[in-house]
Amino acid sequence: MYSPISPRKLPKNWKAESWEAVEPWYLELEERALESAGDLEEWLLDRSEVDAAVAAVSCRRNVAHVRYTNNAEAEANHLAYQAEVIPNVRKSGDRLDRKYLESPLRDALDVNRWGVHDRESDLAARLFRPENVALGVEEEECIVQYGHLTGSMTVEWEGETLTLPALAKYLEVEDRDVREKAWRLAAERRLEDCDSLENLFDQMRSIREKMAANAGFSDFRGFRHLEYGRLDYDPADCLALHEAIEEHVNPLLLRMQAVRRDSLGVEELRPWDLAADPLGRPAFEPFEDSAGQVRVAAALMKEVSPEFADDLIWMEGQGLLDLETRPHKRQGGFMETFEDERVPFIFANSGTTHRDVETLVHEGGHAVHALLSRRLEPGSYRHAPLEFAEVASMGMECMAMEHLEAVYPTVEAKRARRFALEGVVSGLTWIATVDAFQHWMYTHSAHTREERSEHWVSLRSRFSGNLNWTGLEEEHAFEWHRQLHIFEVPFYYVEYALAQLGALQVWSAYRVNPEQAVAAYRAGLDLGGSLPLPALFEAAGLKFDPRGTLLPGLMAEVEEAWEQVL
Ligand SMILES: [Zn+2]
Repeated sequence: MYSPISPRKLPKNWKAESWEAVEPWYLELEERALESAGDLEEWLLDRSEVDAAVAAVSCRRNVAHVRYTNNAEAEANHLAYQAEVIPNVRKSGDRLDRKYLESPLRDALDVNRWGVHDRESDLAARLFRPENVALGVEEEECIVQYGHLTGSMTVEWEGETLTLPALAKYLEVEDRDVREKAWRLAAERRLEDCDSLENLFDQMRSIREKMAANAGFSDFRGFRHLEYGRLDYDPADCLALHEAIEEHVNPLLLRMQAVRRDSLGVEELRPWDLAADPLGRPAFEPFEDSAGQVRVAAALMKEVSPEFADDLIWMEGQGLLDLETRPHKRQGGFMETFEDERVPFIFANSGTTHRDVETLVHEGGHAVHALLSRRLEPGSYRHAPLEFAEVASMGMECMAMEHLEAVYPTVEAKRARRFALEGVVSGLTWIATVDAFQHWMYTHSAHTREERSEHWVSLRSRFSGNLNWTGLEEEHAFEWHRQLHIFEVPFYYVEYALAQLGALQVWSAYRVNPEQAVAAYRAGLDLGGSLPLPALFEAAGLKFDPRGTLLPGLMAEVEEAWEQVL
């Protein structure tokens, strides 16, 4: 269905397995004489091809490692590539960026075609410091350690060894004592590694702060925002967004929590009361294994558009899905693109509940995006900025949610919709918490661990509504340890809120006119990352809204839809 794309210049089936293999290609680019705008365009596309070949090997080795973190050879292969190839690629890449920026031919390029690439190159050259390359390798080693620590977290549950994601389904059961037991078991298991995680985090933070200082920034936040290419919004917008969430989302969260508390018949909500069905029904398990999970997710996506379901089924046939959770698999879920074949790969830690269906629909949205934009050149245009990439995934979730009745029994469809709408609301407040926490940590560099915990707890009380943590002070203080992003990809989180604002607009439009909304969604995804963020949103018929000004209207619509499924 998706045929290979012939290489421009590299030999067919050539792999960028070592620096020795890659170096000649970069050297040729560094030395090549450029005489016309046409030469420069050819040169940019040739460079993109070498970059993509490197990205492919880097990604494949990382995926091989995170699927089996106890496979020493896979880990060594991954780390060797990060230590031996990537640093050299970064240095060569910087020389190529400068060659491009200094070229008098740069002004002759079509700005509509090359504008985004141009501003990204300019930014990359501004931020690059050779001394940060080695620090990047150190940071990657810390990330591998975090994977070890969390990947080996298992608990004994009724004679079975379970990973923490596998244990999560017991948080959904009716029996409150069982939920409490499961919640405490997971939290206690995390606390066993509390000191290691605190140490590891401080080590990462210090590496990151050094990188920022090397690049001339007074704090890591400013550096990281630009490193992520956030040219269309800044930290002040994020702080305004936190406030908008506090003002316009928190009231709905409180209302939802009050209804939940009353339905559960408890006096106060405890942390283990949030995932259970408010009407006390057992967890709905719509599938048994990976094949079943794909069938259910594809059935939902098919209702949105048959081609979206075809993509997911095609990936299954190609071995591009690794969905089930198991010991020694890194936690979390993601979609990555293998740039050599330009195909997406989905990684997840699935149980057997509806939540896992949602995850697959989400990652399926990313995969559709990757496949729609796979023809684009240069390679950087095949990756949209994260704020828009998550519109693809969350927008897919929102549209699929409208079709739950076609796949589930009516009562389960209603329940899943309620779960999704409540998830949007609690999700936004959790994002604000995680983002605000990082803003604080990286602008209060001298903080102590105690202050850090206190600040986390204060943010949780600002954004998490009415939850009773009495007797769970330690669990509360270190709750953030379970948020992988804080360790692995700092500041990568607010994107989810910015994208949720886009996805809710997709949903709102879809409810009025599905065909038109899918066409607009598709038109936006089709552009990959070839336009700046506001223009991508606009192409998809959406408004980019970094300060959350649309929240009042969108939350009113969410509230109304939620009332219908109570
Ligand atoms: Zn995503």
